[in-house]
Parts: sequence; C-alpha cells; structure tokens
Amino acid sequence: MTNPQTEINEKYFSAPEDEIIARITKRRGELGDRLLILCHHYQQEAVFRFADLTGDSLKLARLAAERDNPFIIFCGVHLMAEGADMLSGPKQQVILPDLRAGCPMADMATVEQIEEAWNDLAAAAPGTKVIPVTYVNSSAAVKNFVGRHGGSVCTSSNARQVLEWAFARGDKVFFFPDEHLGRNTSVAMGLDNDEIVLWKRGEENGGNSAEALKNAKSILWDGYCTVHMQFQPEHVEQWREKDPGIKIIVHPECRHEVVGISDADGSTERIINTVTDSPTGSHWAVGTEINLVKRLADRFPDKEIHSLSPFQCLCSTMYRIKPGYLLWVMDNLAQGRVVNRITVDEDTAKGARMALERMLGIK
Ligand code: SF4
Repeated sequence: MTNPQTEINEKYFSAPEDEIIARITKRRGELGDRLLILCHHYQQEAVFRFADLTGDSLKLARLAAERDNPFIIFCGVHLMAEGADMLSGPKQQVILPDLRAGCPMADMATVEQIEEAWNDLAAAAPGTKVIPVTYVNSSAAVKNFVGRHGGSVCTSSNARQVLEWAFARGDKVFFFPDEHLGRNTSVAMGLDNDEIVLWKRGEENGGNSAEALKNAKSILWDGYCTVHMQFQPEHVEQWREKDPGIKIIVHPECRHEVVGISDADGSTERIINTVTDSPTGSHWAVGTEINLVKRLADRFPDKEIHSLSPFQCLCSTMYRIKPGYLLWVMDNLAQGRVVNRITVDEDTAKGARMALERMLGIK
C-alpha cells in the first residue's frame, strides 16, 4: 500500500519555471554523485533535461543496479520505481517525486484479481499446464505471483521470446495485464483467432465457455494502456492519404487493428532507433506518447516526425512528475531527509525477482 502524496508547499508551483529549473540545477550540483536521476522516455522535457540516464523501465532499473549512488530519483511511474528498488543494492534508496504517478494499465490487474482468475482457470481447464507471463508494467505483487507460479516477466522488446519460452513449457499462456501486447505478439507468432481468448474481469470464466478455454493457447487479460488505445486505424489511413511517402511506426500496446496496418511496431527503444537510423528527409507518424514524439521531432529537424494521432496522447500519470516535485524531493535530500521512498518488502521482492531473472535468462 502506497502512502498518500504529501501536499507540498505552493511555492514549488507558483515560482516561474525558469526559477524552479535554476534551483534544481543548483541542487543537482550540491548532491553530486550521491544522486542518480532516471527518466523514462515519456517524461516532459522540463524534467527529462535533468536525466542522468534515460530509457524504458527495465533498462533504467538495470542501469541503476550497476551504479552505487545511494539515492535514485525515478522520474517515471510507481511500478518502475518498485522495479528499481528490487534490482538495486541494499544501500540504495529509490524515490518517486509524486506518489500519485501510477500506471492505469498496471492498476487493471491487482494480485487478488489474478489469483482469483488463476483458480477459476484451473477449475475450467483441469489437467492443463498454464504459464503466467506478466508485462513489466505490473505491480511487484503481480510479478511475485508470476515468479512463484513458474512464469516470467516480459517487456515490449522481448514479449515474443518470452511467449516462445512459455509455450515450450506449458499448454497455455495466461498473459496480463495488457491485452494488446499479448494479442499483437500472439498473432505475430502465427496463433489463430480461436487460440487467443480475452479474459474479461468480473465475468465467470472471464466470459469464456469451457470449450473456448480448452482450445485457447493465449489467454489475455483485458487491460490496456489509456494512452496507446487512443491511436485508431483511421489515423493511419489519414496520414497515408495526406502523405503517401510517410512511414507509420507504433508501440505494441496499440490495438491490433492499428499495429496490423502499420509499417513497423516496437518498444520505445526500437521506435527511437528506427527513426534515428532512417535517412535524412524521412517522414514518420509515430504512435506513442507525445513527449517522446516531440523529442524525436526536436532531435531530428532533418526529418518530418509527427504524432500518429491529431490529439495529444499524453500519459497523464507520468506527467505528474513536474519540476516542482523534483525540486521538492531534492530539497529534502539536501536537508538529509528521504521523502517518497519506494520499497518492496523482501518476501514480495523474492518472487518478483524470480520472474525478472527468468526473463533475463531467456535468449
Ligand atoms: S503510457 Fe500507458 S502503460 Fe505507460 S505508464 Fe502511461 S498508462 Fe501506463
């Protein structure tokens, strides 16, 4: 259970942004090597500019584990800070600047819901070996469940390898919390439609008949990313009509109707690398969070880079990490206080690490 976010002094918001930025810069210098600031690709620029390391959640947690800075400020969402705490050393403390920065997708699969569904599935498909796979965007408690039930974590980069590993060990995969990453990966692996079923929360047997569950190979939780669900097939069509030379690249958290008609799909790292490696003059419409798309557009003025959607697809919980909160946690650190520390109890962390380590062992 996370503590509520402390109301912070109004001066952290009322001061002009350039003053806040100047104060963060000063604090950054004072805290020196005692501090490591990690920023996810979806962070707003005013915070991202202070990153010592950038990346997706797993990359950042692994990089942090290789360092020995005692304080790690994770500018991301809660589950990412949990991951960093589990992989970092005993002398490191992980801080999330605003405790309200959660992930709606991760919240769609609580460990209690997963346990109940797991038991229902066992009763509905007796004698079947099911391997649980959780997307890295899930709580430590869910990862712990997966680790203790012989399963693995996956990321948007390695979902296919992890599913192949799971199918080599069991009859079915129970994949949560993101339906779309699970579906896009299962389809890319050649599974037929009737081998992929959706487990709808709150419905008996997830809304599936015993026959459908018997035939299924991929059983997908009905969670989704509120940001990536905003991209629609018509956005792809509109861009192609407007600019026949444009390439469309999207994140696999987008629905299959979008991924299936795009030119490419992949994790944030793959999107960045693909656009970076494309020739001068390339045109791109990118289906992922707007801060990453804007940063790519700023970085490559020699290319035309747009958001796939005409609307601002912003991760509003990630956006809670405002410069004022970053300054507040740094001011406290400078005064010897650690606020907003994220910790995972050792029992939970033990199972979760098993799930993470299984993934790291999959080639
Ligand atoms: S972009 Fe989507 S999956 Fe990522 S933190 Fe935001 S809501 Fe969660």
